[in-house]
Amino acid sequence: MLYIGVVEIPGSDDHEGYVAGLSADGAYSDIWTDVRHALGPELLAYAPACECGWHGRPHPSDPGGFRAATRDWLVEHFAELDPVRPVLAALGRPLCPETDFLTAPPPARTLAV
Ligand SMILES: [Zn+2]
Repeated sequence: MLYIGVVEIPGSDDHEGYVAGLSADGAYSDIWTDVRHALGPELLAYAPACECGWHGRPHPSDPGGFRAATRDWLVEHFAELDPVRPVLAALGRPLCPETDFLTAPPPARTLAV
């Protein structure tokens, strides 16, 4: 999730959020991997992550866990950044994932042939 809100936030480009997959070997997937399309070993959990290196607590590797990890990145990391707090105070509302951020679309369903 990349911030694209109406009020510029200095440094926000350094905090692009994503949902990382946690493998059995303890490794997290990178920002380029959409865990909803993950191939290879099964992921044990989803975790909020940021390109700055921050990781949050894990959630189940299912659609609810994906939504929870996305929310955690926004609420527990991005909204707590020093340059973001005054913007939130001026806006008078929480940031909205659908309108304030550029997000990857949900995976398309595979059509049976
Ligand atoms: Zn960050």
